[in-house]
Amino acid sequence: MNVEIVTIGDELLLGFTIDTNSGFLGRELASLGVTVARHTTCGDDVGIIVETLREAINRTGAVITTGGLGPTADDMTVEAVAKLFDRELVRDDSIAQWLEQRWIAYARKGPMPVSNYKQAMIPRGAEIIANPVGSAPGVLVTDERGRWVATLPGVPREARTMFTESLRPRIAALAGEGTVVRSMTLHTIGVGESSIADKLGELGKGVNGLSLAFIPGIAGVDLRLTSRDRSSVDTDAALAEGARILRDNLGDVIYGEGSTNLASIVVDACRDSKLRIAVAESCTGGMLGEHITAVAGASDVFHGGIIAYDNRVKRQLLGVLESDLAEQGAVSEPVALQMAKGVRLRLGTEIGVSITGIAGPGGGTPEKPVGTVWIAVDVSEGRPPIPRPDGEPPITPYAKARVFHFIGNRDEIRYRAAQAALDMIRRTVRDLPKTSAI
Ligand code: AMP
Ligand code: MG
Repeated sequence: MNVEIVTIGDELLLGFTIDTNSGFLGRELASLGVTVARHTTCGDDVGIIVETLREAINRTGAVITTGGLGPTADDMTVEAVAKLFDRELVRDDSIAQWLEQRWIAYARKGPMPVSNYKQAMIPRGAEIIANPVGSAPGVLVTDERGRWVATLPGVPREARTMFTESLRPRIAALAGEGTVVRSMTLHTIGVGESSIADKLGELGKGVNGLSLAFIPGIAGVDLRLTSRDRSSVDTDAALAEGARILRDNLGDVIYGEGSTNLASIVVDACRDSKLRIAVAESCTGGMLGEHITAVAGASDVFHGGIIAYDNRVKRQLLGVLESDLAEQGAVSEPVALQMAKGVRLRLGTEIGVSITGIAGPGGGTPEKPVGTVWIAVDVSEGRPPIPRPDGEPPITPYAKARVFHFIGNRDEIRYRAAQAALDMIRRTVRDLPKTSAI
């Protein structure tokens, strides 16, 4: 089955909004075994929208649009669809009532603006695609030959929800039990793509009959396995086996798969091991704490942090020795270790993590160029102590510092440092029973 996607909006053509809707729809349709034959983007002009839709429906007989469903004059997708199918626009009372109820429910003052009623006008005979997360309903119009156009709003969250809840099941039924295209992503941290490729050898060209893509990003290198030409059930089995093979070959540089991220993995691991975290951040200025607190439920493990940017803060709030700052510099092993220990003791947690580095663009020296970052982890019994999980030995005091040399601009260096710190926590938690006292 072939479908075309038409995304509508002047803002897309002007480049003010990046078209993420067609990306989402492309992935979803591929996973149903539906081929997206073409994407087209057009501006807010009824004549051009009608022309674009006509060409698309003549090619495939199935078109999904996003954008142009709002209440204002520049939203004209439904009008264009009515013209395309030569149907008049009629007021749908159920939509009008629903819009009024929604207006009242949101405690808006006064009567609903007249322009809102525009969203209740639909081509005669159209099916309504309900919008549970916004005001713009979509329509699905089918002609006597079975050719159809479905309209979704431009707001990505609304388009995603409506596609998933209303359109996806219908298209799945139309597409039948064919072959599907589906991907699975594994996330790695701490190794470059060429090292991964070396380690994988021949597997780098494909795993278990699946194609493998290396996707380097600021958070680490992602490995995406893609299956084509298999049934839905075979696809899931092939992807699971491919992921197992990659894990066997790459080991612990893979920290997770799918929609997870490193901070979530760290929060879960710390919760399981009953370990609390405190952070002391210099060059990342709170980014590590931000990444951890972005995870829902982070309060189970995250206690807080100190942004120790100025050396005085490192000394006064974290207990870093003046002599080490003077002799070794703020970006050094002893300072990183003292920061981690200092924040752990002051906040009473089991784990203290510190980051101190040179994010640039200035401040580098031949010995410590821009991108030099020391990260330390300090572990010991917290205050007040919390009981260890069943079967886990008591915490052996442990501390470790590592120097990293990150590449990139200031933003990238700071981000990579926060990721590397999360990875040090992940590894520390995993190895905790095996670590030795220092
Ligand atoms: P509209 O439904 O055309 O009123 O669009 C509402 C908002 O959704 C626009 O202001 C854009 O910010 C956003 N939007 C529209 N089309 C897209 C698209 N294809 N991808 C991502 N965002 C979009
Ligand atoms: Mg628009």
